[in-house]
Amino acid sequence: MAEDKLTKYREKRDFNVTPEPHTSKKTSEKPRFVVQKHKSRNLHYDFRLEVDGVLKSWAVPKGPSVDYTQKRLAIPTEDHPVDYIDFEGIIPEGNYGAGTVIVWDTGTYRNLKEKDGQKVPMEKTIEDGHVEFYLEGEKIKGAYALIHTGREGRKFWLFFKMKELNRNTRDILTERPESVLSGKTIEELEKG
Ligand code: MN
Repeated sequence: MAEDKLTKYREKRDFNVTPEPHTSKKTSEKPRFVVQKHKSRNLHYDFRLEVDGVLKSWAVPKGPSVDYTQKRLAIPTEDHPVDYIDFEGIIPEGNYGAGTVIVWDTGTYRNLKEKDGQKVPMEKTIEDGHVEFYLEGEKIKGAYALIHTGREGRKFWLFFKMKELNRNTRDILTERPESVLSGKTIEELEKG
């Protein structure tokens, strides 16, 4: 089943050339998330949630914020295989997403969405366009939401921290630019 969800992912890539993973073997007990910093034509961050054997994915051009007043545009992208969770490396020129990827943050998450006292399955919350979860990352901790919304006929998602008592105005993207796996920045990884 998870295999079918990855058709789009596989069609876009030549695995003889790109070092990107194409399997979903690295399963875990608790569902995980990853934020990958990706310097391709445009620098952006990819936010992925492990749901039902794949990584549901959104590109977040401005990256996540720890300030609940900052709502970030999120564009859905194709499901990724679970083994992408710890991928960092260089995608060669001429390939889809060519450029450099680091694991900017990763950890586990908890689904927060309930209806009538019952947990709503993650898949359903994504279908409904209203996803709420608690992230336990190294850099990012707290309750976040991904909301499918529309304005003037345009549809998009917003990714943001849910409202809390104390506003955190730190710029975590600038303060902590490095990978949580290798400790390297994009530039350091490129130098090898
Ligand atoms: Mn990307």
